[in-house]
Amino acid sequence: MNKCDSEVLASILKEEGYYYTDDFQTADILLLNTCSVRDTAERKVLGRLERLRHLKEDRPGMILGVCGCMAQSWEHELMEKFPHIDFVLGTSRLAELPKLIREVQETGRSVIDVSEVAPQNEPIPTVRESSVTAWVTIMHGCDNFCSYCIVPYVRGRERSRSASEILQEVKYLAESGYKEITLLGQNVNSYGLDTEESLDFAGLLALINDNSPGIERIRFTTSHPKDVSEKLIDAIANLPKVCKHFHLPAQAGSNNVLRRMNRGYTREHYMSLVDRLRLKIPLISITTDLIVGFPGETERDFQDTVDLVEKVGFDIAFCFRYSPRRGTPAASMEDQLPEDVKMKRLYELLEIQDMISISKNKALIGTAHDILVEGRNPKDKSQLLGRTDTNKIVFFTEGDDLIGQIVTVSITDSGNWSLRGELIRGY
Ligand code: SF4
Repeated sequence: MNKCDSEVLASILKEEGYYYTDDFQTADILLLNTCSVRDTAERKVLGRLERLRHLKEDRPGMILGVCGCMAQSWEHELMEKFPHIDFVLGTSRLAELPKLIREVQETGRSVIDVSEVAPQNEPIPTVRESSVTAWVTIMHGCDNFCSYCIVPYVRGRERSRSASEILQEVKYLAESGYKEITLLGQNVNSYGLDTEESLDFAGLLALINDNSPGIERIRFTTSHPKDVSEKLIDAIANLPKVCKHFHLPAQAGSNNVLRRMNRGYTREHYMSLVDRLRLKIPLISITTDLIVGFPGETERDFQDTVDLVEKVGFDIAFCFRYSPRRGTPAASMEDQLPEDVKMKRLYELLEIQDMISISKNKALIGTAHDILVEGRNPKDKSQLLGRTDTNKIVFFTEGDDLIGQIVTVSITDSGNWSLRGELIRGY
């Protein structure tokens, strides 16, 4: 969501006649698009703002703006701590960026706009990082209030975009040569529930699948396990463009912890969901997010998470240690765990998951996969990078002209996060 917002901000500025530079020393406008989901992300921004004090002293005409979730949650506090910031722009107010810049330029005073009222016409990104794959926001906000999560406080309540607006954006992307789209929302499974329309997320997938000539693949993220319907599982199984990959954040394997997290499902529900997905879509890859060291998590609770990981056999699990977010219920729970306990559990879980990912990827050696070639390997430009339908990253060596094409690759080697392969044929 944050990356998508950055593309929207860059597109708005392009319309205003600015162009993008990654040389922040000489930029006329410097935007920090921030994330609040973990403490480390916030600390990084605070450190960067501190370092930018000198740049602003040297170049007072440079405009420094802070956008994103930290802008929304810290608002005035951010300005008080760092008076060299020129504006603070909230998550619903991206379209107001030119107005704020003009106000700063004309008055020389700093401005804050963190209103939760979203503008009528949502800006659509025209500047995108990739020329092959694109994000498409289908909804904003979240109504779930998981007890550790700051998102509902900084992104507001759920608001679905209209299907016609989404289809229009997808059509524009297809005409511009994009091959893959990822539908974005904090919980895409509740798409449409806030509207009068009868279209739910499974219906939206079918609509896009049937009305997007030129788009070859449709992905989506993220899904709340409590809201996955049988209709959605059938849609993934039957719609040819919908990729066979499901990112399904479990967060914990202990019912005690899940209850305190306010997740609204049990480990039994989660595991039966995985069984149903694998029954209808045998080759589906399942990835997840997990938090260890949640307040009050006992060793037994943690071992339940380990057990869930071993039983499900995730393709990838993004594991994090619990990070208290101020203003959330979990941050004021009494039984916070010491950092060393959280770290020990995190390393234990990472080690177990690594072994599972390695063995799953190893099993793919010798098999052939259609991959969409997205670009070059950023770490080794001689290699191309693509993804399988199941969202596995594959590196292989071939020419530039394959970028944007779906080609068949035979897997020759594997690691825990990626695969290597050889081209069989391109078409
Ligand atoms: Fe946060 Fe996701 Fe829970 Fe919403 S569903 S509150 S975004 S963790």
